[in-house]
Amino acid sequence: MNKGNLAPFLKLNLPPPDETSLAKFLTESGTFMDGDLLVNRDGVRIVSQSQSETPPLIQPSDNQLSLADFDAVKVVGKGNGGIVRLVRHKWTEQFFALKVIQMNVEESARKQIAQELKINQSSQCPNVVVCYQSFYDNGAVSIILEYMDGGSLADFLKTVRSIPEPYLAAISKQVLRGLWYLHHEKHIIHRDLKPSNLLINHQGDVKITDFGVSAILASTSGLANTFVGTYNYMSPERIIGGSYGYKSDIWSLGLVLLECAMGQFPYTPPQAGEGWVNVYELMETIVGQPPPRPPPTQFSPQFCSFIEACVQKEPKDRPSANELMSHPFINMYDDLGVDLASYFTETGSPLATL
Ligand code: ATP
Ligand code: MG
Repeated sequence: MNKGNLAPFLKLNLPPPDETSLAKFLTESGTFMDGDLLVNRDGVRIVSQSQSETPPLIQPSDNQLSLADFDAVKVVGKGNGGIVRLVRHKWTEQFFALKVIQMNVEESARKQIAQELKINQSSQCPNVVVCYQSFYDNGAVSIILEYMDGGSLADFLKTVRSIPEPYLAAISKQVLRGLWYLHHEKHIIHRDLKPSNLLINHQGDVKITDFGVSAILASTSGLANTFVGTYNYMSPERIIGGSYGYKSDIWSLGLVLLECAMGQFPYTPPQAGEGWVNVYELMETIVGQPPPRPPPTQFSPQFCSFIEACVQKEPKDRPSANELMSHPFINMYDDLGVDLASYFTETGSPLATL
């Protein structure tokens, strides 16, 4: 908690609850406030006078959160590494996502992960998912994240199949802002940009998540051979094991947007109707073949040019996130008054009902 916001948590030995006397001051949510005392079934907490009407919201800088402060609401997703739950903070009733990644790694790797998570915690960009706190506990890393009630772009795509260009331009603008922040301010290469790591909410926000951590987990000793993530969006220079930088994320962005536009992953298997025989075949195609292009009859020249710029095989030929923000595609639909909030909520997205 922000020092001065919430005074240290006090566990008092309250007498057994007397239903009738409690009922008169417990709110529906089970929280009672009187002056600077905040009481619920977990105990008593002192809050400062000015904030006693409504509990103060948890800020990213709070560093005294504990897992015991949260109630699990439901499971919202599962990835290769772990499970993501919607949880509620007992005191403020704020919702968060709790991601638990099972891992048994040695001390040095744990330190590296803790370090990376610290960087995440200090992120301040409206297009990057806030990481509030992380814990290492009993062979698992638990991360408290900002809850995004629309789920991921991967979830959304399952419902809508493809995303029309005007919405894609608005989505791209936000992702580019987030990417520019990670690259320019934080000096982080995301390394795992894909539809399931772009999260959306009912306010029309699009935010990047899972930067850094997944890459560390993938490269950490003990886990290196168990990497089960996807190679689909990996740039050619990464696949061949060469050095790579920020431009590697730009390649991934191009493929993600092309997939959103076309409604399918842009690399098609050699035999129509069949899947990729194995992951090496796909990797060979990414490295050896020309990059995919949007069919020019179905998309605007601006969109085609934007994608073409992102998926240049040579990293140095790809523009930076900042340069892409002034690409003509990004602002070409500005006059349409595109409303992502309604699009995400009314197009049957899996927006959670709380
Ligand atoms: P992988 O494990 O290969 O990286 P992934 O990105 O789908 O795949 P997770 O990052 O564990 O795996 O996320 C699983 C799912 O949980 C996401 O697809 C999304 O639907 C949901 N999710 C993740 N983070 C949040 C969040 N902060 N708010 C709401 N939902 C989330
Ligand atoms: Mg993820």
